[in-house]
Amino acid sequence: MITATLEGVVGQRLVRRICPRCREEFTPTEEMLWELQLRSEDVAGRTFFRGGGCDYCRGTGYSGRTGIFEIMLLDDEIRQLINDRASTNAIREAARRRGMRTLRESGMLTIFDGLTTIEEVVSQTIYEQL
Ligand SMILES: [Zn+2]
Repeated sequence: MITATLEGVVGQRLVRRICPRCREEFTPTEEMLWELQLRSEDVAGRTFFRGGGCDYCRGTGYSGRTGIFEIMLLDDEIRQLINDRASTNAIREAARRRGMRTLRESGMLTIFDGLTTIEEVVSQTIYEQL
């Protein structure tokens, strides 16, 4: 009954923002990139940032938070999968085929915008690896 009127589902996580006062460029290691299933070729030309730690952020390198999102729009196929009690993975895969941007992909864009770190996105999206 609910799926007849539901238009979409939004997933959100909060990630810590890099402190603007001690933000610095750095080159991530292969291991760090691998945690996001990326190779160095995938991120050629990208700049990565981290917080060096300062008085303003009490040495943490972070200040405040920002959201990362995924939005699944329901169409007939996805409604049917939900009504058939399909697995979460099957529903996610169908949404991915329709172009849904996952939390992890949203997180990568936030990393590439220089707002958060690889570690934050990995720790907040550990269960959404598709
Ligand atoms: Zn700082």
